Amino acid sequence: MRPFIYERAESIEAAVQAQIAAGQRPKNIASVHAPGQYLAGGTTLIDLMKLDVMRPQTVTDINALERSPAGTIEFSPKGLRLGAMVRMAAAADHPDIRENYPVIAQSLQLAASAQLRNMASLGGNVLQRTRCTYFRDTSYASCNKREPGSGCAAMDGYNRTHAVLGVSDNCIAAYAGDFAHALIALDAQVEVAGENRDRLVPFAMLHRPPGDTPHIETNLAPGELITAFLVPPIPWARRSLYLKVRDRESYEFALASAAVALDLDGGVARNVRIALGGVSALPWRAHAAEEALQGKPLDDDSLNAAAEAAFADARAREHNAFKVALGKRTLVRALRQAATMEL
Ligand code: FAD
Ligand code: SF4
Repeated sequence: MRPFIYERAESIEAAVQAQIAAGQRPKNIASVHAPGQYLAGGTTLIDLMKLDVMRPQTVTDINALERSPAGTIEFSPKGLRLGAMVRMAAAADHPDIRENYPVIAQSLQLAASAQLRNMASLGGNVLQRTRCTYFRDTSYASCNKREPGSGCAAMDGYNRTHAVLGVSDNCIAAYAGDFAHALIALDAQVEVAGENRDRLVPFAMLHRPPGDTPHIETNLAPGELITAFLVPPIPWARRSLYLKVRDRESYEFALASAAVALDLDGGVARNVRIALGGVSALPWRAHAAEEALQGKPLDDDSLNAAAEAAFADARAREHNAFKVALGKRTLVRALRQAATMEL
């Protein structure tokens, strides 16, 4: 690991100021990403610094913010507020989240391992980087995400775990997280603290598609800190779930996953929310599938039509074509299962 400057921030304001100052420091090491990084649980950042994939000059430790509003879980008439420094395990195990937003609790419970969930924060979770092997291994020269303009070794390499939705000609890496799909399905917002202002960003606007700039993954400005996620009150989100299909039943990233929430009138879909993971380059809301189900009974015809709509624009490569069929089956199974849940 390369040398770096370590700082510990005791408040949200101090953290933001430290990262703004980090951006103004003259660079003394080759930095391919932002000159500074926040350190929460460190389970992505330290990993990638050891691999020399991320080379921040300044690391600002924000763990003290666990004692600020960024470290709390609150329910109010406005919905659920999840502090960004809440640990994954705390949110996954929270009885009110399990009851009112099961899709959130399950997306966290099915992620990583118990040790990682105890350590990792919600803010760090949504900003985790891809698990693309070529990105994580610097012995591969071609990776547009790691070295802009260098090419993409995965295109004609081994791409079994890569994305089929939202990909570009420059990057086909899959977004690795689970929790983000629950947030995008529920129309969550992100509370962000910045140098001159705090702002609310729709979760759907947080991540950027790879396009021509796969190395720029979010719409956060330099130094901006995520302080919380706001989930609106959706009474029928009690009928929601996260289904994750992977190579082994535990401690593994998704090959395909579906976050679904259903509002039913009799057997007819009054409102449907769908997000798809494991198959997409960024947190992925499946609007076309939602529209296909609107006002329809949840029978085989409508479920299959929704699955077809969800993957109509899929672009597969040599080894990941199976994800199109798997993704459709995962979505149909998730919706069938959700339809049986009592409110
Ligand atoms: P950190 O590593 O501290 O930070 C990650 C990034 O986010 C850094 O760039 C940091 O600067 C930035 N950051 C952190 N907090 C903030 C903030 N508040 N505002 C702005 N920027 C911030 N995840 C899954 O979803 N599903 C899985 O199945 C899964 N399996 C895993 C298996 C293994 C073996 C490992 C190592 C990880 C796995 N993960 C999985 C990923 C894991 O959940 C993430 O590494 C973790 O959630 C990141 O959180 P952290 O607090 O450790 O982030
Ligand atoms: Fe890099 Fe993206 Fe290609 Fe993977 S898929 S090698 S992350 S450019």
